[in-house]
Amino acid sequence: MNVFTVDVEDWFHVCGAGAALDRVNWDRLPSRVVPTTRRLLDALDRTGVRATFFVVGWVAERYPSLVHEIVSAGHEVGSHGHQHRRVYDLGANEFAADITACNAAVINAGAPRPRAFRAPEWSINERAQWALGELTRAQFHTDCSMAPLRLVGSLDYSRVPHVRQTAAGAIVEVPPFVADRFGQVMPLGWGWGLRMSSPRRVLRTIARANAVGAPAVLTVHPWEVDPDPPRVVLAPQLRFAHYFRLSGFEARLTEILTQAPFSTLAATTARLRPA
Ligand SMILES: [Zn+2]
Repeated sequence: MNVFTVDVEDWFHVCGAGAALDRVNWDRLPSRVVPTTRRLLDALDRTGVRATFFVVGWVAERYPSLVHEIVSAGHEVGSHGHQHRRVYDLGANEFAADITACNAAVINAGAPRPRAFRAPEWSINERAQWALGELTRAQFHTDCSMAPLRLVGSLDYSRVPHVRQTAAGAIVEVPPFVADRFGQVMPLGWGWGLRMSSPRRVLRTIARANAVGAPAVLTVHPWEVDPDPPRVVLAPQLRFAHYFRLSGFEARLTEILTQAPFSTLAATTARLRPA
């Protein structure tokens, strides 16, 4: 079984985007997270897929009914941090406070306590390995933040779900789906890699991973299915990550959801969790 995940954040939750999208401005920017998340909820409803939604605490605090809708539809709710900050930019204490605040916002919105975490921008890498211990201490049983990809993570990271030991106990690490193409590793399961690939290619590559027992973990954002996305000037690399080939993505995504089996993280990784 494969895993479908959504990082529930607004279009302006971009790490390192500069002053215009700084968090002091978030409350003044036109939020689009509710209608765009509903588009994803509808697509999942139509295709009969249960997914894991990693919710930003800031969003849960402002739109608790959206969290309620996610839970009512039978999806799992995880944590995407409270302020959507890169983990390696935080110290251990700041990180612990951030995940505590996110948990509180999500629980106040009516969801069970999150047990799975995904860091903004895959930011649990060599610069923040300590964070896995913090998550274990905070009773998370799964982390999905270590991308087996250059720049954000490392090519040395495992591509399959596995158990990692920390000083505070064990945690299951579930990496996002990548594929080899033209001698490079590309993010076939998320971002520009998923948006640029034909459903046929994505499905074929998922089938190949499944044939050797590996689940594919896909990730999308509500802003990727926005029919009228607000745009701001971003640095070239961020511009590519956020704006490249959004056109027609919702239809391609629906085709993928229809033709491969997907479930929640909890369902797919249950056998790995320490008793
Ligand atoms: Zn994010």
